[in-house]
Amino acid sequence: MVFCPKCGSVMYPREVNGKWELFCPRCGYTMPLEDESILEAYRVRRRVTHSPKEKIIVVDKDQVPATAVLLKGQVRCPKCGSDEVYFWMMQTRAADEPPTRFYRCKRCGYTWREYA
Ligand SMILES: [Zn+2]
Ligand SMILES: [Zn+2]
Repeated sequence: MVFCPKCGSVMYPREVNGKWELFCPRCGYTMPLEDESILEAYRVRRRVTHSPKEKIIVVDKDQVPATAVLLKGQVRCPKCGSDEVYFWMMQTRAADEPPTRFYRCKRCGYTWREYA
């Protein structure tokens, strides 16, 4: 680990015109990287600290939102005819326009929308 002689931050290697240098992300200080073993040390470290990205929660776009209500016998699915349909509203257009009504069939998953 190399520290910036100006501000004390950890310096990172980068390649400029085929040559490696160390730069400080805080104050922008750069210095030539002559010892390639420093680069190796950074590479190893980078590989180790790579994992937290996997914790990003993938939002399932096919999921019914928490605000949805299950309607029974009021709306029929145009695809399979089931009368158990989830219903929710969402503001998809300008704020001064009425929200869009969404429906999703509980049985087959078919989703459709209806503009108010
Ligand atoms: Zn610095
Ligand atoms: Zn259906």
